[in-house]
Amino acid sequence: MARLPLVAGNWKMNKTVEQTERLLSDLVNSSKSQRGVEILVCPPFVGLETAARVLQGTQIKLGAQNLHWETSGAYTGEVSPVMLAELCEYVIIGHSERRAYFGETDQTVNLRVKAALAHDLTPIVCVGETLEQNEAGQTAEVVSRQVRMGLADVTTSSAKGLVVAYEPVWAIGTGKAATPDGASDVIEVVIRPALEYVFDEDFAQATRVLYGGSLKPGNAREFFDQPEIDGGLVGGASLNADDFLAIIRAAA
Ligand code: PEP
Repeated sequence: MARLPLVAGNWKMNKTVEQTERLLSDLVNSSKSQRGVEILVCPPFVGLETAARVLQGTQIKLGAQNLHWETSGAYTGEVSPVMLAELCEYVIIGHSERRAYFGETDQTVNLRVKAALAHDLTPIVCVGETLEQNEAGQTAEVVSRQVRMGLADVTTSSAKGLVVAYEPVWAIGTGKAATPDGASDVIEVVIRPALEYVFDEDFAQATRVLYGGSLKPGNAREFFDQPEIDGGLVGGASLNADDFLAIIRAAA
C-alpha cells in the first residue's frame, strides 16, 4: 500500500517569533519544487500565527506540539483544540518529553487524541520505550500498550489520517539512533498489529508510521528505505534549514 512519506519537524522549545519567520522563509524558498513528500513544521505555540502567515499558499503544513482536551475554560497556561484549529492541521501528542517531564499518561494521550480529532486536527501520536524498558526486553509490551490505550475508543471513521511516530526514548536527542531494521521491526510486529487491534487491518496498513530519534541527513535515507517507515519526526535537525531539507529529500 502506497503511503505518502511525511517529514515533520518538532522544534520543541526553540526559535523566537523572529527566528521562526527566518527559518520558514528559507524552507519555503528551498522546498518549492519538492514533490513526493509531505512537509510539516511544529513550532512553539507563540510562533504559530507567524508561521501560518509565512506558510500560507505553500506546500508546508503547520502543526502544534501539544493541546488540551477541553475547548475553553479555567486551565491556565493551556491551549485548546479550537484555538489550534484556526492555525494548524496537525498536532503532536504524547511526545516522550511530555510523558517524562509533564505527567502525560496513556489516558491523557487518549483525551488529547479524541479532542484533536473532534476539531479536525490530525494527531501525530508518539510512542516509544525507555532505555531501561528496552534493555529489560519490554519494548513490544510498552509500545503496544501505548498505541492501544492512547487510541482506545477512537472510531475508525474519526481517525482517518492519524499518524503514529515510533520514537525510542533512548534515541531522542542523544545522537544514538535506533537501527533502521530494529525500528522497522517494531513498526511491523508491534505498532501495525496494535493499530489493527484498535481499528482494522486496512486502517493499520494505510496509517503512516514515522521513525523519530536522532534522524540526521547522514542516516535518514537508511531509515526511509525501510518499507515500514513512512517518514520521520525530526527534532534537532529540523532547526536548521539545510539539514531539514536534506532529510526531506531523503524521504521523497
Ligand atoms: C523528537 O523530538 O521527536 C526527536 C526525534 O528529536 P531528535 O531528532 O533531536 O532526536
